[in-house]
Amino acid sequence: MKCPNCSGTLVFDIKEQNLKCRHCSQTFDVKDFKVDASAEELVFEDARFYTCKSCGAQLISGDDRAVEYCTYCGSQAILESNLSGIKNPKYIIPFKITKTKCKDIYRRQLKSKLYIPKEFKDPDFIDRFRPFYIPYWMYQIGFNIDPIDVKGHKYYTRAGYDYSETYDVSVAMSYKGIEGLPHDASRNFDDSIAEKIAPFKRNELRRYNPAFLAGMYADSPNVDPEIYREEVLDEATDAAVQSIRDNVGTDIHLNLPRNRKMRKILDTRYEGNSAVFLPVWFLTWKKNDRVAYAIVNGQTGKIHIDLPTDMNRFMLYTLAAAAVLFVLLSLFVTVTSRFVLWFAALLTYLVGIRYRKELKEIRDRENHVFDKGYLLKDEKELPMSERRRNWERKKSRLGFFRVNRIVLAVFGSILAFLLFVIMGAMYDELVTQRGAIAMTSIVLFLEIFSFLRTFPVAVYLKKKRSLLFAFLGLLAIGYSFWVAAEEPVQDWWYYLGALATLAASSIMCADMIARYNETATRPLPSFYERKGGNDSAKEI
Ligand SMILES: [Zn+2]
Ligand SMILES: [Zn+2]
Repeated sequence: MKCPNCSGTLVFDIKEQNLKCRHCSQTFDVKDFKVDASAEELVFEDARFYTCKSCGAQLISGDDRAVEYCTYCGSQAILESNLSGIKNPKYIIPFKITKTKCKDIYRRQLKSKLYIPKEFKDPDFIDRFRPFYIPYWMYQIGFNIDPIDVKGHKYYTRAGYDYSETYDVSVAMSYKGIEGLPHDASRNFDDSIAEKIAPFKRNELRRYNPAFLAGMYADSPNVDPEIYREEVLDEATDAAVQSIRDNVGTDIHLNLPRNRKMRKILDTRYEGNSAVFLPVWFLTWKKNDRVAYAIVNGQTGKIHIDLPTDMNRFMLYTLAAAAVLFVLLSLFVTVTSRFVLWFAALLTYLVGIRYRKELKEIRDRENHVFDKGYLLKDEKELPMSERRRNWERKKSRLGFFRVNRIVLAVFGSILAFLLFVIMGAMYDELVTQRGAIAMTSIVLFLEIFSFLRTFPVAVYLKKKRSLLFAFLGLLAIGYSFWVAAEEPVQDWWYYLGALATLAASSIMCADMIARYNETATRPLPSFYERKGGNDSAKEI
């Protein structure tokens, strides 16, 4: 896109929400601007070629790209063939978050993270944030607005008595249809990422104009819109049910049928779809064949960062913490081997619980539990699916703990340390052999129960290794129980037990980090190599 004044390159200026010439700084209204950036294209034996309008170079283009930059002169071309027919975007939400703002949000988010790879905080790396327009399908859904008759209950307490009243209620949808149930339309873009930076506010949807793409990257929709059909109908029905409940108010509980039946009653209809472009800032970190993303919602600034753990850093900090703890312990406490054995078993049990939670998270992720699209109910926002909403609500209620988690961690460590000192000092005095057996058997019992719950998850995931590690934990605690019961005279039986349990929990911890890094990174996508846009700019 060329400046009419000086034929410099035009880019979309986020701060001014207008086209701006990089050379003479003149601005142009996007609305009035006729874009003539579409390139001449040619498809030949599966390869797609286009001719650069500025320099005439013949270039190869990717299948799913809507925008290309010339390798020779840097000119931007819009590949209309990838944006025609149903792929033609109807709306676009222009970028609102500038690159500077985006980088600020990113840096703030990373402040308290200790174990991430060093590059994450490198200014040159952070400068590589790229503005992408991600294609989404927006679905039009229709409803029947005739009233339906259902039963409603009202519960209240008066003068110490509980009352329950039943009503026949006639309810109706207040709107005929929803336009816009967005679902990720790009194969390159993981659905679960889309979910993490949702929602986009739909009141800023603008009619699509290629001028918005000036200086940005964009993919063309390459996912069949039909694949979301059932999901979209379910979501629309959920949203409709929610709006009916909202209209009735909170003191009357409605007996509404389940989703599929409700869908029939409301006659939820699929009325078509259209492509929209939504703005996302992308930063890609690559190691070997895996990548991690930082993505920032280009409209709202909501951020998600894949945070792999740097194993070396993790080891370093953990060893340092262990050394400090060791010095403190040897200064203040004399613990006996019996206590060490019991305490190590307890720790292993606790690590086992965390381990199961990690495995469960992987299972949920594979099942896309949190991967349901968000949807559009009213004019203002694209709300999330109900399950997601509940989850988010729960999370925000826990917000206090998240904000203060450093304080909590410090407080927790001090408390744990005190507990260790006090218990260690009293253990041998207070706990008889029978008491020790009882205490160890409690841990063993809990561990067996815990293992039985881990078992199906590990089997489901087909992770033999995880099953083995969890079983090692169980074995080690079993051994501790045996030692406690037999009470051998030599200390080394006890220390062997403590070592075995701690070894089992270390293995589980290491595996957790490895698994975590696997889920925090992704396979290499095609757009990693994209370049040529307005990249060098520190601010757009
Ligand atoms: Zn100019
Ligand atoms: Zn060129």
